[in-house]
Amino acid sequence: MRTPLLAANWKMNGSREFAERFFTELNLEGVKSGVVVCPSFPYLGLVADAAEKSGGFSLGAQDLSQEPKGAFTGEVSASMLLDWNTRYVIVGHSERRSLYGETSELVAKKFVAAQEAGLTPILCVGETLEEREQERTLEVVAEQLQAVADIIDSAGWKQSVIAYEPVWAIGTGKTATPDEAQAVHAFIRSQLGDLGAEVQILYGGSVKSANARELFAQADIDGALVGGASLDAGEFAEICRAAV
Ligand code: PEP
Repeated sequence: MRTPLLAANWKMNGSREFAERFFTELNLEGVKSGVVVCPSFPYLGLVADAAEKSGGFSLGAQDLSQEPKGAFTGEVSASMLLDWNTRYVIVGHSERRSLYGETSELVAKKFVAAQEAGLTPILCVGETLEEREQERTLEVVAEQLQAVADIIDSAGWKQSVIAYEPVWAIGTGKTATPDEAQAVHAFIRSQLGDLGAEVQILYGGSVKSANARELFAQADIDGALVGGASLDAGEFAEICRAAV
């Protein structure tokens, strides 16, 4: 039995004032899923404090360095994230891949760096619109997973979460239909070997309270990675409540 997981990806949004207000407004009563909030690095401490006080959610980060320490100006290591009681970290978000040139090989190294430190990586995979139109969705997703599979052992998927995020659905208001998403989720699960049945596979791409329930009703959709809609505490809590 996989517990649903809802992860808020604030991206480079928010402020100290926003974060403080968010947690005074966030009411997770009736939520049965796991909940993760991923702020920008400067707000990790603030969100960690809020998580400790309320106990209703975990802290996540949006990225990490593949390196453990050293002369890497601007980077943040896994052990630094752990210092703030971070539990999850997003790796390979499509914005990191497309805007910052992160290759699947680099993403795989970040995945391993996170896991070796005891963090749970949320590995994002997904195709562009062009790749979908060329009917290459499964091929692209398989390649992104394979880069990680190449450098972990078969038990490596155990402490991990996968987020299927079709790039054309992120921040666009377009969502994959439940059937489209389910087909890719089932494929991803089939690629994870013996441990596939245990891994939480989240959907991401313009999830809102209005479309969450039908997505979460699919057999292989175990929750969501939520961008834009996670900036509204009330809307995010509604999405969390849709997962049972
Ligand atoms: C995301 O950033 O991972 C995401 C899914 O964004 P949005 O919900 O805004 O599409």
